[in-house]
Amino acid sequence: MEVPNYGQPAPPFQPGYPMNPAMAPGPPYPPAMNPAVAPAYYPTVNTNALAPQVAPYPQFTGIPGYEGMAGNGDDSRFLPPPPAVGPGPDNIPAATNKDWLIPSINQEAAKQALLDYASGQCCYGSSPAEEMEIIQLRPHNTYRYRLETFTESRSCEWVTKPLTADTLDSPDKGPAPQPWEIQVTPPALFKDETKKMPVPHTTSKKSCQECNGKGKIICQKCNGNSQVKCENCNGSGKRSADECMDCHGTGFKGCTTCNQTNVQTCPGCAGKGQVMTFIELTITWKNNLHEYIPDHHSNFSTDLFKKVTGEKMYTDEQILVPPIMNFPEPSINQSSQTAVQQHYSQFISTCRILKQRQTIELLPLTKVEYNWKGKNCSYFVYGRENKVETKDYPSTCCCAIL
Ligand SMILES: [Zn+2]
Ligand SMILES: [Zn+2]
Ligand SMILES: [Zn+2]
Repeated sequence: MEVPNYGQPAPPFQPGYPMNPAMAPGPPYPPAMNPAVAPAYYPTVNTNALAPQVAPYPQFTGIPGYEGMAGNGDDSRFLPPPPAVGPGPDNIPAATNKDWLIPSINQEAAKQALLDYASGQCCYGSSPAEEMEIIQLRPHNTYRYRLETFTESRSCEWVTKPLTADTLDSPDKGPAPQPWEIQVTPPALFKDETKKMPVPHTTSKKSCQECNGKGKIICQKCNGNSQVKCENCNGSGKRSADECMDCHGTGFKGCTTCNQTNVQTCPGCAGKGQVMTFIELTITWKNNLHEYIPDHHSNFSTDLFKKVTGEKMYTDEQILVPPIMNFPEPSINQSSQTAVQQHYSQFISTCRILKQRQTIELLPLTKVEYNWKGKNCSYFVYGRENKVETKDYPSTCCCAIL
């Protein structure tokens, strides 16, 4: 199928269309993140404005650009991205007007769709589908507009883990790169994904605070008493009138967690007595979807379109797509303009927009009215798959017509 274009050459920017700071003239990313030389719009990751948090190991928090950062499950630090490289306004593709071709299903295909449908239902007779007389095919074709905005966000927090290596990527190996300076390629476009990694040159070794470097802590089960309450008799030493066999009437049993040694392996350092602390970078890729289907003026349930595909009429994929202005169905233009603006204002300050994709599909929808044995019935054929939706198929139980 020929892909039609949809409108006049779009004006470079509509009033109110959000301008990506990335499109403004500025230094190419990534330059040195020096706030002193960066232009005013340049976000800096040095968010001293955030309330100061106490890091678990304060002596290791003096990493430039990461000061005052919380750790270990406290709210990790929000990191606004520096602007991404983007196409200038001149790069917005021009589009030209053409008539839309609206494909419609023919009688044969309509009949075949119903036959397939009936044979797929366990108890439906095929007679109506075979013998029916089609009265009318009514097109209710509609469109599906989608805007997908694929974003990347980054956050950092201090984490403490048991020591696993002898040689650590410590701060004396070099300056730690800023979160957005670390080059990471998304595994796939338009797919949700999360990746965690240590920020280079931020790892330090430290004596474990949970066990004071001993590698062992007092047994949490028996509190260092070697004995725990017998669960069988709930500590009474008795079951009914008899002595509890499990604890021989004492109400206590030897602790199996520590094997009566009163201590257990420290979970914080896995018994090593030493831990490593480092800044962990979490990268989150997310595909944010806006979907809109205009009214098709029929009692067909729009939700059913979720199960089928349509004919791709238009696809535009770039870092920031311009809103569609000249599609023949005005509500698509409206939806596009709203969605483009909404996604932009929603994501541009908190995420980096890596890619946007805007698509229009034609969703075939035909109402078939037919007569079978003097009875008037109807069904819908929808999607490229020619799926059938019917509420009044006249033979829903094969036994009834035999
Ligand atoms: Zn007992
Ligand atoms: Zn114990
Ligand atoms: Zn420990």
